[in-house]
Amino acid sequence: MRRKYSHSQLDKEKGVPKYICPACHQMGLLLEASDKSVEGCQQICRVCGFHYLPLTPGYSFPFSDAEKKWGAAWKECGAEVLFDKTKEERVNYFTKLNYAFLGQTLYIPTDEEIENRTFDVELLFSQRGYSHNSDSSRRITVRCEDGKSWEFPYETNTLFALDDPMKYFTIAEEKERGVLCLAVSEYLSKLSSGRKMFRGFDPGIFPEAYGGVYLLDEELVLVGLDKKEYSFDVVC
Ligand SMILES: [Zn+2]
Repeated sequence: MRRKYSHSQLDKEKGVPKYICPACHQMGLLLEASDKSVEGCQQICRVCGFHYLPLTPGYSFPFSDAEKKWGAAWKECGAEVLFDKTKEERVNYFTKLNYAFLGQTLYIPTDEEIENRTFDVELLFSQRGYSHNSDSSRRITVRCEDGKSWEFPYETNTLFALDDPMKYFTIAEEKERGVLCLAVSEYLSKLSSGRKMFRGFDPGIFPEAYGGVYLLDEELVLVGLDKKEYSFDVVC
């Protein structure tokens, strides 16, 4: 699933831009690019959509050369003028621009890769700081309330599936906070009410390739689209 990117400034029609945007080098800004006031930081270029707000809310991803990269993304997407579009079209184009921008720094699986589950799981997780680990003294266990159960070797950044390829999941270790996460497909997350780790998003992982990422500090019960409960755990 792709995230729809929006911005509060996308429907602001008022004002005539009179400053040059550092990303597209066109007259697209109402305030100077160097304006660090709240309004200045919130402004969005009318031509290319460049903005100074954190580009991935809730995640301090180090984007260097953001202007350059945004400008390149804009060109890659046809260099269309954002505010020549209708309000609805703006959100769609802005979404396209954001993905093109993120795609220069991050691997974001294509829809086809996600559909066929052929995306690069190792790259997807390692690029966000999740390290690859295997531990033969531990196992991943999954039990379904209908009596079926599965056991998998403890290996992170790896795609595992239950009895249906759509019931897939990956275990990831977030070294920085020392936590174990369970990323699961939409099949296993859509009806689940477990404690989600990322309420916002984590480009590439959530919401693109996985429907939810949960803390796995104890047995975790999720509900599948078949309305059955699946209990995940890591045991020694
Ligand atoms: Zn611009």
